Amino acid sequence: MQPTISKIPLIQLASGDRLFLQVYKFQGAKPGKKAYIQSNLHGAEISGNAVIHQLIADLIKLDETQLIGEIWLVPVCNPVGVNQRAHHFSSGRYNSYDGKDWNRIFWDYEKTDIDIAEFARSQRNLTLTEIQQNYRKQILESFQTLREKSKHPAQIPYSEYYRTLLQSLCLDADYLLDLHSSTNQAIDYLYGFQSREESAKAFLLDYGILMNDYDGDAFDEAFIKPWLALEKHLSEQLGKPVKFDIESWTLELGSGMKMNPESVEKGIRGVKNYLASKNLLKLDNFPLPETQNYPLKLTLKTRVKRYYSPTGGMIQNRVELGKLVKSGETLYEILSFNKTEELPQIIKVKAEVDGIIFDVSTNHTVNQCDYVLAIMEQTST
Ligand SMILES: [Zn+2]
Repeated sequence: MQPTISKIPLIQLASGDRLFLQVYKFQGAKPGKKAYIQSNLHGAEISGNAVIHQLIADLIKLDETQLIGEIWLVPVCNPVGVNQRAHHFSSGRYNSYDGKDWNRIFWDYEKTDIDIAEFARSQRNLTLTEIQQNYRKQILESFQTLREKSKHPAQIPYSEYYRTLLQSLCLDADYLLDLHSSTNQAIDYLYGFQSREESAKAFLLDYGILMNDYDGDAFDEAFIKPWLALEKHLSEQLGKPVKFDIESWTLELGSGMKMNPESVEKGIRGVKNYLASKNLLKLDNFPLPETQNYPLKLTLKTRVKRYYSPTGGMIQNRVELGKLVKSGETLYEILSFNKTEELPQIIKVKAEVDGIIFDVSTNHTVNQCDYVLAIMEQTST
C-alpha cells in the first residue's frame, strides 16, 4: 500500500525561502475511521518523527485490505519550531516571535458562541451516529470561517495562520495522536482524557496523566474538549452515559533533542497496538494479548507536582529519572554560593508526595524558581 504524499505550503521566510508541511495519507480498501498522527510540534521533541518513519515503512508493506479507514501522518509538523536554535540547543517550545508555547495556540469549538446544552436538547431523539454527524458538521462549519480568514494572511498573525492549517487536517478525524517527548528529559508516558481510560491501555505505556484540569488551547485538548462537553450534556439529558468513539492522545516519548531507540520502539509498538485495537489495522498478533490487563498507572493532572528551585545555584545529587520516591526523601541538592560573606551552602530539597520522577531538567544550573523536576503522585494500593 503506497501513501498519497501531499505538500502544503506554509510561509515564505524573509530570505525568500519557503516552508512546507507534508502529509502522508494511507487509504484502506474499505472506508472507515480516520486516525491523524503528527510529531515534533515542539521543536526539540523529535522522537515521534522516528515513530512516523517506521509507521510509513510498516504500512507500505501492508495490503490495502489490512487498513480499514485512513491514516494521515504529519512528521516535523512545526517547521519553524524544528529549525529554531539557541547556541547548540533546539529551543523550539515557544514561538520566538510572539513568545507563545506552540502547543497552546489551538482553536476550541467550545469557546465559540455555540450553546452545547441546547444542541444536545435538539438532538436527544436521534441516534448517536446521527448526533455525531450533525455535531461534526457544525464544528467544521464554524471552523470554515477561520479558514476563510486564513486565506488572507495579511490579516492574521502566524500562530493563527499555522493552527488553522494544522487543525484543517485533523478536525474530521476519529482518533488524534500528537507525538511529543519532554523538551527536557523524561520517561515514556501519555496524556489522556477522562472516560477514555480503557483505550489508554492499548499504548502499552506504564504511566499516564489523566487530564482533569485544562483550558482547551493544546492540540489534543482542542480536538476532544467539544466532544466531551457534548457527551456531558447528552448524558445529563438522557439520564445515561453517552460516549462517542472519538479520542485524542498525546504520547510523551522520552527526552528532547534525541531519538532514544527504546522510546521510539515503545512509541511504534503503542501506536500500532492502538490502531489495531481500534480495528483500523489488521495485523498479525495485534492487538497484543497483554493489552486488556495492561497495568497502566494513571495520575490526575492535578496530582502532578512540579518542583522549582527555591534558590539559585547548581543542582547536584538529583534522584534518577524514573525512580519512585517517598514523601520526605531528598530529591536533589542545590550548591549555593550565597553572597553573604559566608561559606558556600548545600540546600536539600525533599519530596512532598510519594511518586515517580517522570521528568527532569537538562540544565543543572538554576536561577531561583527555575524548573528542576516533576513527580506523578502514586498512591500505594
Ligand atoms: Zn511537547
